[in-house]
Amino acid sequence: MNDSGDTAAKDTKTPQRVLEGLGVADGVAIGPAHVIEVGRLRVREYKIGAGDVAAERERFADAVAASARQLKKLQARTEKMSGAAAEELGFLLEASQQILQSSRLIRRVDERIAAERVNAESAVQFEVGRIEEEFARIPDAYLAARAQDIHEVGARLIRRLSNVPYAGFADLPKGSIIIAHAITPADTVLMDPARIGGFAAAVGGPESHSAIMARSLGLPAVLGIQDLEEKIPPGETVILDGAKGLVIVAPSPATLAEYARVRRRLVRERGLLNRLRTLRAVTLDGTKVMLQANVELPFEAEAAVRAGADGIGLLRTEFLFMNRDELPTEDEQYAALKPFVVAMNGKPVTIRTLDVGGDKLAPALREKMPTGPNPALGLRAIRLSLKYRPLLEAQLAAILRVGALGPVRLLLPMVGTASDLIKVRAAMGRVAARLKKAKVRIADPLPPLGAMIEVPAAALAVKSIAAHADFLSLGTNDLTMYTLAIDRGDEHVADLYDPLHPAVLQLIHHAILGANTAGVPIGLCGEMGGDPRYTSLLLGLGLRDLSMRATGLARVKQRVRAVDIDEVTRRAHLMLEQPDSAHIARLLDKGA
Ligand code: PEP
Ligand code: MG
Repeated sequence: MNDSGDTAAKDTKTPQRVLEGLGVADGVAIGPAHVIEVGRLRVREYKIGAGDVAAERERFADAVAASARQLKKLQARTEKMSGAAAEELGFLLEASQQILQSSRLIRRVDERIAAERVNAESAVQFEVGRIEEEFARIPDAYLAARAQDIHEVGARLIRRLSNVPYAGFADLPKGSIIIAHAITPADTVLMDPARIGGFAAAVGGPESHSAIMARSLGLPAVLGIQDLEEKIPPGETVILDGAKGLVIVAPSPATLAEYARVRRRLVRERGLLNRLRTLRAVTLDGTKVMLQANVELPFEAEAAVRAGADGIGLLRTEFLFMNRDELPTEDEQYAALKPFVVAMNGKPVTIRTLDVGGDKLAPALREKMPTGPNPALGLRAIRLSLKYRPLLEAQLAAILRVGALGPVRLLLPMVGTASDLIKVRAAMGRVAARLKKAKVRIADPLPPLGAMIEVPAAALAVKSIAAHADFLSLGTNDLTMYTLAIDRGDEHVADLYDPLHPAVLQLIHHAILGANTAGVPIGLCGEMGGDPRYTSLLLGLGLRDLSMRATGLARVKQRVRAVDIDEVTRRAHLMLEQPDSAHIARLLDKGA
């Protein structure tokens, strides 16, 4: 997007620059830029003493041996799989093992530790970089792919050597603003809002999972600024304006003062909204609306309680699978889910089974997930769980076990047909029988089983799905994407991504009517639910259960308390008759 100078900064040494992108998470952050170079491994270099060289070489040799064992294990698993993807993966793992057995990389790292007396991690990073540079000079696609293999092996070795699965952002100066070509959801999981000010990236759309994570974490974020990482010197002061979508580089004193004022105003507003926490979400005519929280990271359970949520309407379990090479065990999953159920203290917790695919990747599942020609339409979410039963059954067992601690509901992502529900219900029965036999305490009765309505087919066939579901939940993020054929994470078409498109509203309305007719409760947990601009429309369409990031609850509650149901129902029906989203938006803004 745009890159414009600013005359207000004439008096400073480095002139202020204003970069314009997509504001995907509100808020203002001011801090030093931490620029992540594309594809670079994050490690620290330190010198070692002459007497420590042998031990460091041994540490490196151990890491090589451990990585080789890990790769062998992965390969044994692929051998049990079939199909072209399994074969391709087998080749890749084989190539990685060969690199580990004897390669220039391993030899050179070993030599570098001795010659330069540096730690093994930095020697790996240096040598990977050197080999990549050599390969880059030869214009050959095959060799380019080999460079990627070497990069992968290097990353694996560094993770093994550092003992932390993936180096996080823990050692950055407080308030740092992460600048990168791309921020993956796995990166956001490593961001501690007490330490990180916010982030900006060159790629990504408004409903990408990284954007959703930013809003949940309360971190301002701006995406879609081309070549961003090349435009900001590391350590330079930057201002992130998440509402306007601006990254201000080397701000002038006047700009800094202005943004300090904005920040104070935002803090005051947050204080006012906090007072709504204990008030009920009831419309002017006395209709009670259930406002629940979407959560993902462990700390968000407390955030949901603090925000006064009526429950957890969507617990995304993807975080359990990110930043690690092995799948989490049933016990690990149980331990991770338990704090959410305990924190909600009797309020319902809706746990969704794994929803990886598209922009949500899990390294531990890479081998199970062929990228395919179009990952958004490929083997992902419930399709993957149903294909790979140990994954599903471990999740089901963990969920059934936490169900013994409080009310839990089980939600399936990307349901396409009723048979998805039928198969999972049967699997749940089998897992429950196994656990009971082993005298393990589980939910009794078994948790209600629900389906996300987030692909157009499910919205249209809601009747048949509702016949097998105990509840439904509209996922408007994906529903919008699949209905409009616009990738939610692609900044190039971000301006076309529009949940107010008449087709999306018709599908939402159709699903609500179908659920009501079937007598099956329906809620909404897409990002629309957390945007107060849409509250009256959603209530008018008949929804009484909205789930959103905890940070959005207060503003939505404020809207709910100002609404009359008859009035918003009338207006919503008028909106359904509009020819395009511009007309709908006008009506929406007039009534808001
Ligand atoms: C959705 O698609 O609306 C949704 C809530 O799920 P996710 O954003 O996790 O895909
Ligand atoms: Mg979804």
